[in-house]
Amino acid sequence: MPHPDATHGDCANTTTLYGRARVSAQRAAIAEVVPLMRGAFTAEDLHRAVAAHTPGIGLATIYRAIAAMQEAGALASVGERDGSALLAACARNDHHHHLVCTGCGRVVGIECPIDEATLNAAEREGHLVTSHQIVLYGLCSRCRQREGA
Ligand SMILES: [Zn+2]
Ligand SMILES: [Zn+2]
Ligand SMILES: [Zn+2]
Repeated sequence: MPHPDATHGDCANTTTLYGRARVSAQRAAIAEVVPLMRGAFTAEDLHRAVAAHTPGIGLATIYRAIAAMQEAGALASVGERDGSALLAACARNDHHHHLVCTGCGRVVGIECPIDEATLNAAEREGHLVTSHQIVLYGLCSRCRQREGA
């Protein structure tokens, strides 16, 4: 079944989502739903979608499965929505960032905009940069067409 954004999330299938971690029946059921999520989603979104397929899986189990998938590098954190962490299936394992559509949730991977000049500027301030987080929000091309924006 094709992922809505094949350039970015096409590796999100049940065999790779958890890496080498042991996969219980419940985790397998959760992993089957992840590729059906369109773009960015919260744990609550995933819980609702899983419940439609496999009733009886608790939110705590969803959270633990998400943690395992993040650990395996299959889910990326792409900011937050209404106080809940936003997640997206992410097949890339090189360093990159994400564009998140605030209309439909579509997620696109982009190259890192941090360059030597930025790091040098930080160094001049006496900072040693050890990590950074960048998420770009806006409307995707499809949503812009729909809204005539
Ligand atoms: Zn990504
Ligand atoms: Zn969109
Ligand atoms: Zn970066």
